[in-house]
Amino acid sequence: TIIDPLLPGSGRGVKFSDVAGAKEAKQEVMEFVDFLKNPDKYRTLGAKVPKGALLLGPPGCGKTLLAKAVATEGQIPFLAMNGSEFTEMIGGLGAARVRDLFKEARKRAPCIVYIDELDAIGRQRSSGQSGFDGGSGESEQTLNQLLVEMDGIGSKEGVVLLASTNRLDILDKALLRPGRFDRHIMMDLPNQEERREIFEHHLKSIVLEKPASYYSRRMASLTLGFSGADIANVVNEAALHAARYGKKVVSALDLEYAVERVVGGTEKRSQALS
Ligand code: ATP
Repeated sequence: TIIDPLLPGSGRGVKFSDVAGAKEAKQEVMEFVDFLKNPDKYRTLGAKVPKGALLLGPPGCGKTLLAKAVATEGQIPFLAMNGSEFTEMIGGLGAARVRDLFKEARKRAPCIVYIDELDAIGRQRSSGQSGFDGGSGESEQTLNQLLVEMDGIGSKEGVVLLASTNRLDILDKALLRPGRFDRHIMMDLPNQEERREIFEHHLKSIVLEKPASYYSRRMASLTLGFSGADIANVVNEAALHAARYGKKVVSALDLEYAVERVVGGTEKRSQALS
């Protein structure tokens, strides 16, 4: 996927203000916008700017959202691929896809390359169960190509690589060496105050009986363990529930119903996984 905020008609991109909570993570990635926008500031000091960062944390906590926001705020293109898109390939095509992605990125620089689920491509090599083909051949070639491409990019190229994973433990150590993914940015499940902020953000997009702040505090206290994606889901389910009963505004009852529904969904999901 390529999102280019500079092209007309590409719509309103995800902004930093759309990522609620996650204050520290936002501060850390904001630095990357500056690396891309003002490379000379760092070059003249002799500083080597990081080539990329790894966004860590459970699903639905805003990793993709944050990576997109970096691109929008920097007014630069965002090139995204999922790690599994490389591993489905056979006959050297995975490595070729990596090469093509970076070729395109260099053409569009300055830009952000985002690889979601990096673990699909970046599992440890030669550990017996390391890849879809047992750690040899195909998956190894793909990972090697990624390492080659990472070494080839730098602040001069204006390509910043962001990648996300929830499995730091299984990543090949070569990916974590200095000069590669040596920055780690944690995006964990939101705490109560962060959940309040995420509710407040999403509640703004629906029609409520009372102001958003009236609901957000109570909803945050009811939703321990919810991710940002779960919260977005609760808000939408509440609006659907209100519509189902022909209501013109969403009320506390709809929101409470939606929490139950989303809890049911996550329980089913975790049962299926266990
Ligand atoms: P995955 O690893 O499953 O891709 P992710 O961490 O990349 O998950 P996102 O895709 O960024 O999660 O988040 C999914 C959706 O959840 C977002 O589109 C947004 O609606 C909501 N969301 C998640 N985190 C936040 C947040 N901090 N603030 C506002 N909305 C959030």
